[in-house]
Amino acid sequence: MNSLGSEIISKSINILRKYPLCSRCLGRLFAKYGLGVSNVTRGNAIKTLALMELHRLVMSDIKNLTLLKDVSDNVGIMPQLVSKYSGVSTSKHKCYICSSRIEDIIVELLDRVISEFSKFKVNTFVVSIRKGSEIEKRELELISEFNLDSWESIRRELKRELGKKVKSLLGIEPDFKHPEALVSVDLDTLNVKVVTTPTYILCRYVKLGRKSPQSGWVSNSEAGKPPLTIEEVLNPITKPFNAEEFEIHSLGKEDYDVRVLGNGRPTIVELRKVKDKSVNLNEVGKSVLPNEYIRVLFDKYIERKNLRTIKSRKSLKIYRLLILSKNPLKVDDVEKLMNEFSDRIVRQRTPTRILRRRKDMEVTKKVYDVKVRLIDDYILEMLIKCDGGLYVKELVHGDYGRTSPSFSEILNSELIVLEVDLIHIFQT
Ligand SMILES: [Zn+2]
Repeated sequence: MNSLGSEIISKSINILRKYPLCSRCLGRLFAKYGLGVSNVTRGNAIKTLALMELHRLVMSDIKNLTLLKDVSDNVGIMPQLVSKYSGVSTSKHKCYICSSRIEDIIVELLDRVISEFSKFKVNTFVVSIRKGSEIEKRELELISEFNLDSWESIRRELKRELGKKVKSLLGIEPDFKHPEALVSVDLDTLNVKVVTTPTYILCRYVKLGRKSPQSGWVSNSEAGKPPLTIEEVLNPITKPFNAEEFEIHSLGKEDYDVRVLGNGRPTIVELRKVKDKSVNLNEVGKSVLPNEYIRVLFDKYIERKNLRTIKSRKSLKIYRLLILSKNPLKVDDVEKLMNEFSDRIVRQRTPTRILRRRKDMEVTKKVYDVKVRLIDDYILEMLIKCDGGLYVKELVHGDYGRTSPSFSEILNSELIVLEVDLIHIFQT
């Protein structure tokens, strides 16, 4: 049985009689064997042993000198060996795979990576090498020609080499699962690009005023434009992160004239093209637009993979409403309303007021509990506990029968919603 050593030597002699290779590129072809040894060391060892074997062959039969010369020309070490027999010194050819540029390439790439990273503040990173470079093509050709199964790709070696050096020079950690920065390298052009993953922050806003929508004003006219939007208040947080893009992922939306009290409404802010991934959340709060009406609490950073789960979470809400009735009401009416809307399923078609931007459809939502207080014959104050997504104003006035049952329907009186406050959200 042939030993692994003699198998590697004989394969290497076959390869090297045809192709000149630098030690690193040769070592990489047999990277599966020998742990903790660099490809350069491995390649040098193989070259040395191959020449020793050829020396043995020449000593036993001088006809083997041609083979020794061919291989020696392509390995670039031990020139004295051939000179001893033929008096002709060997010449060193360029490595077939990397054109003997690999060491310079590593130095150049490292330089560029470090220079790119100087524009960012990140804690973790991963290096990726673009597939399909000329070097990689030649490497794959050679592997296929000699049917090798013990090789490591140049992409993998460079990722590791650059990763180790970046870690030791910049003190940041490679992270293959959730890197903050992705370094992509093009081996043909030696272009290096660093992009950061988006930053997601789970926050809550409390809205003390009644004139602030979440985002931009839908009307073209400036008339009636609200003084402040949630988006405007949050937008300056791009500054500490040095982020170019900003987006709010809404977890539901209240009407602009509804106050949000209590623990606030959860919202996710996404920041893209972020330069600084090391911002302390305590600092973020200081960067929101100062104002009297909207308070934002920043809870935690979240990962992209959790975004969908958080967004699809069901919620229950408690609202406080002030309602005006066209007809006078009695205590009996109040009792009736509370009885009718205990664990009651309500069917709602899309409200007429938003039909122009939402599809007309019917949904069923549940009202769990209603507590009502008659302030005088015409004014009611109430607390409603219901499913998130229920249109609470329509629950009151019925929206021309599109919400049923409605409070107006049960009380047989036209009802006008004066005030709505969202006072608590339960996340389930
Ligand atoms: Zn090479």
